[in-house]
Parts: sequence; C-alpha cells; structure tokens
Amino acid sequence: MNGEPGPVEPAVPPAPGAEQYPALDLANSAIVLPGGRFLDLLGTPGAAGRWLAGHGLAPADAGLGEVCAARLRSLREQVRALVASRVDGCPAPSDALAAVNEAMTKAPAAALLRWEPARGLHRAVTHPADRIVEHALAALATDAADLLTGADAGRLTACGSPPCNRFLLRHGRRHWCSTRCGDRARAARAYARRTGRPAEA
Ligand SMILES: [Zn+2]
Repeated sequence: MNGEPGPVEPAVPPAPGAEQYPALDLANSAIVLPGGRFLDLLGTPGAAGRWLAGHGLAPADAGLGEVCAARLRSLREQVRALVASRVDGCPAPSDALAAVNEAMTKAPAAALLRWEPARGLHRAVTHPADRIVEHALAALATDAADLLTGADAGRLTACGSPPCNRFLLRHGRRHWCSTRCGDRARAARAYARRTGRPAEA
C-alpha cells in the first residue's frame, strides 16, 4: 500500500534573509513558478512535517496530521499579509495581527524556569508530543514579529520578477529572490527594449 509520496519538492534556494528568519521562509513556502505552476511546500501533512523538521521546529517523526498542516498554512497566509502590508506601507490587517498574536501566546516559545532535585534551577523548552505544532506556530509567529519590527524590517521587499511571489531582505539594489528571478527580469527588460515598449521599473 502506497503511503504519501516522498519528497518531490524541487530545490528552490531560500530567498535572501529566509535562512535567518524562518518566518520569512514560511511566507515563501507557497511559490508561484513561471509557466503558471504553483509549489506548496506545506501542501500535504508529510511535506509540512518535513518543512518543520528542516527548520528544527519538530522532530522528523512528528507525524503531522492534515489539521496541523492546515494551521501552518493558515499562519503562513497571515504572515504573508503582514509582510505585504509592511512592504507596501499599508495598515496591518487586524485579523493577521490577531492570528499572529494568538499563535505567539498559545504556547510558550520561551525556555521556562524549572527546578528538579538533581539539577536545581534550570531553563528548558518543553515539547510535549501533543503540542509540537503549537510550539512551532508560536516560534514562527514570534520570529515574524521580530522580523517585522526589528532592524531588518526596512529591508523587506517583494521579489521584483513576476510572477514570483516571494519576499526577501534586500541587499543594495538587488530586489530579486534568486539568480533565476534576476535573469528572468533582465531578459524581460531586454525584450521590452527590443520591442520598443518602455522597460518596467
Ligand atoms: Zn523571485
């Protein structure tokens, strides 16, 4: 009996900043590819589990259910809405704020203070098996809040190469999420020049 298909996600290199901020990588986990293709790295419970494990947010054998994968995809949409509002200079959507705040407070992302006879006082993050996803959502929501309010927030930008929908942290004038997107944008500009239409910004 065949289970869920194994890893089939093509290698899409993380956008600049996405290795530093897992919340940015979360926002970029539903990718519009040229040619009208769409890649959802959280599209199935198995894929979502691999994504969490790859970011150190869940053990590899966590065995996520579809309900949990759907909660992760839902947080992604709220984080995307907040990043987009920050990039566009628009008011932050209140439902996205509420969702991120709820995820942050639903499970403690902090290492809590504990006491045991052998160790005395110490701090430890607990990962009870039934709350793995709550902890992962809390960590991602906290990271999103740090990203959106920290020193790097002003560098957040959307990839300037349609139809790409990824966000990145800008370095200098570069505003493409990948070499592939940069090449495509340059080719589009060259085509626009040849055909006499004004080049896009
Ligand atoms: Zn791109």
